[in-house]
Amino acid sequence: MPFPENFTPELVVESPGRINLIGEHTDYNLGYVLPTAIEKKITFKFIRNNSDKECNLFSLGYNTGFTLQLDKIARSNVEWENYILGVLNEILLRTDKLRGFDCTIESKLPMGSGLSSSAALECGLAFGLNELFDLGLSKMDIVQLSQKAEHTFVGTQCGIMDQFASVMSEKGHVILLDCKTLEHQQIPINIDPYKMIMLNTKVSHNLASSEYNTRKRECEEGVAIISVQHNEVRSLRDVTPTVLQEYKEEMDTTLFKRCSFIVSENDRVLKTAKALKDNDLKLFGALLYEAHDGISKLYEVSCPESDFLVDFSKQYDAVLGARQTGGGFGGCTLNIVHKDKVNDFVEAATKAYKAAFNIELEAFEVKPSAGTYIKNEL
Ligand code: ADP
Ligand code: MG
Repeated sequence: MPFPENFTPELVVESPGRINLIGEHTDYNLGYVLPTAIEKKITFKFIRNNSDKECNLFSLGYNTGFTLQLDKIARSNVEWENYILGVLNEILLRTDKLRGFDCTIESKLPMGSGLSSSAALECGLAFGLNELFDLGLSKMDIVQLSQKAEHTFVGTQCGIMDQFASVMSEKGHVILLDCKTLEHQQIPINIDPYKMIMLNTKVSHNLASSEYNTRKRECEEGVAIISVQHNEVRSLRDVTPTVLQEYKEEMDTTLFKRCSFIVSENDRVLKTAKALKDNDLKLFGALLYEAHDGISKLYEVSCPESDFLVDFSKQYDAVLGARQTGGGFGGCTLNIVHKDKVNDFVEAATKAYKAAFNIELEAFEVKPSAGTYIKNEL
């Protein structure tokens, strides 16, 4: 599909990426997470094209697009098309009101660096079509159908956090989300005089997806062992530190480490939510360092580049805490840095990282922002 030059949209939707302050790998263990949307986002421009079935989509980032027919939705060999096709498929399972449309997608959100461009893509599309065709979907429907789309058409068995954060976030808040019940609380966050600075390692070791599946399986094995005697235990979420200790001898060392991380990480999420409510920023920072330690040594999903940056930050009094964010093996680290020292810290980290790995570090600030929304002025 050529780039639609004379494209005057009827509707503009912005769909943000997200960060998760703490609670890594806890979502698929039905535990707690603490995410928020960020200012970086994908912009969608939509217009109904008066056809019954034909849809044209164009990604400006990829400088490519495709045409599809709503009555012939099937998986594609082109990866990004599956995010779109998956969402359309899920919408068609829920309503018969969808008709032909054209849509351009413009992204300021780096892909594959743990900011969840995939959820932003799915949710922005679903949100926009819901408005455009008055589909009557709730925000929660949009979250759940987008997650389902990623499972069925993309083939990633993701938890619900990314889509939830992309859609449900409120400016200046983080969401304490219980992935077991989907109960959630918006927690105001004000960390002034500190800022949240992301350092992009620019590495994504391709271990990530195979190790993700291995970790999922290890957690399930842990649950299977524990639930023999504790039959109330359905997931690691239901395991207390005391119960886990009973298995220290009995369980394989690796399995025990994996389970210990998840059980302690859930506890850290709740402690972090409380620290933010109490405005105890020192504790917030200390919990991030503790989390990274677990990510690196117990869950073993870090990498030399992320470990280097987190260790490096410890030399700075102006940094309260840091950890690798996202699924693992690279992506970004989150750093809580005093606003007067951001430039010094970033400059020094960039130099040191370049010397150690010969990679140009990328730094940017993130601010807790609103979830997917309609942009008023077109
Ligand atoms: P993350 O969600 O952490 O950014 P994923 O691997 O889950 O990483 O999702 C990235 C994928 O999402 C890309 O490889 C691409 O297929 C799709 N994607 C993200 N943003 C866009 C975009 N602007 N245009 C087309 N596809 C995109
Ligand atoms: Mg993703």
